Amino acid sequence: MKSILVTGGAGFLGSHLCERLLNEGNEVICLDNYFTGQKSNVVHLMNHPYFEMVRHDVTTPFFVEVDEIYNLACPASPIHYQYNPIKTVKTSVMGAINMLGLAKRIKAKVLQASTSEVYGDPEQHPQKESYWGHVNPIGPRACYDEGKRCAETLFVNYHQQNDVRIKIIRIFNTYGPRMHPHDGRVVSNFIVQALQGEDITIYGDGMQTRSFQYVDDLVEGMIRLMATPDDFTGPVNIGNPGEFTMLELAQKIIQKTGSKSKIVHMPLPADDPMQRKPDISLAKKVLDWEPKIALDEGLDKTIAYFKTIVG
Ligand code: NAD
Ligand code: UDP
Repeated sequence: MKSILVTGGAGFLGSHLCERLLNEGNEVICLDNYFTGQKSNVVHLMNHPYFEMVRHDVTTPFFVEVDEIYNLACPASPIHYQYNPIKTVKTSVMGAINMLGLAKRIKAKVLQASTSEVYGDPEQHPQKESYWGHVNPIGPRACYDEGKRCAETLFVNYHQQNDVRIKIIRIFNTYGPRMHPHDGRVVSNFIVQALQGEDITIYGDGMQTRSFQYVDDLVEGMIRLMATPDDFTGPVNIGNPGEFTMLELAQKIIQKTGSKSKIVHMPLPADDPMQRKPDISLAKKVLDWEPKIALDEGLDKTIAYFKTIVG
């Protein structure tokens, strides 16, 4: 049995990861400050004898003896990470320093949940890990993008300077059950709006693209990356290369829910990336991983979930 710390474990992705790690027979310590996560995401795990919750903020040091650390703590939705941008930078940067310091001290392996946002509004398409990105350092998304970029730098520096065993995963847009219904991300927004018969809010002309991966595919990729030999650190892209415009996504969701909602257009937020699609050849080669769940199947599962929580 391994002992595993998951920071941000009460969030959307963290809760799925905790569940999977417990199912595989590990002991899981779930750390969260409940900024965007909720106890209800992990309430079904509370009676598990090898599951433990800790209320803690990663910007302050934390000490525990574990074999592995998955560092997911950070708000991920633009409205949440822009709510208190200074705190977002602190969470990424000081959170990384604290988790790397802990990993160094206890000789644990540590995985950083990085993001496709390190590529910014990309000029190379699809995005390979070797691409350095196109990020506005003073724009509204900078607190998240630059925080995550600095965290990657810290991970690599701790590896090179202190031999800390690190893994960096660059996660592309992920969706599924337990996304917060009001967290503002596009898949949850459109599904909630469609189920409630409200207007579907497309920002801009809706021709911007994203590649959406179902949460189970991501969790599989994370676990495979953690299990790689110590000389493989990443970064590695984990995402579904299927690329859709926001207009196509809205139309799919309207059709699947049978909704009478109308599409309305609202202003495009500043620095909103126009295109995004992962090149996953590295993940295929090193992790023998590729996504298994196509957008249609994943949307059906996600819509079924949202039907249980919104009327
Ligand atoms: P989420 O907002 O649901 O989860 C983040 C969790 O971190 C929440 O439970 C929140 O309360 C917690 N948290 C935030 N600040 C904290 C702090 N200072 N101390 C302790 N806990 C804190 O978001 P998510 O979609 O589950 O994302 C999880 C991670 O994956 C994030 O690091 C995010 O950047 C990364 N990521 C997600 C996506 C995606 O599409 N979902 C894409 C790329 C990267
Ligand atoms: N978006 C939209 N309507 C919404 C929410 C988001 O058209 O109600 C757009 C947003 O402008 C972006 C895309 O959907 O182009 C994905 O947004 P999200 O916040 O989910 O993720 P990110 O921009 O961080 O990839």
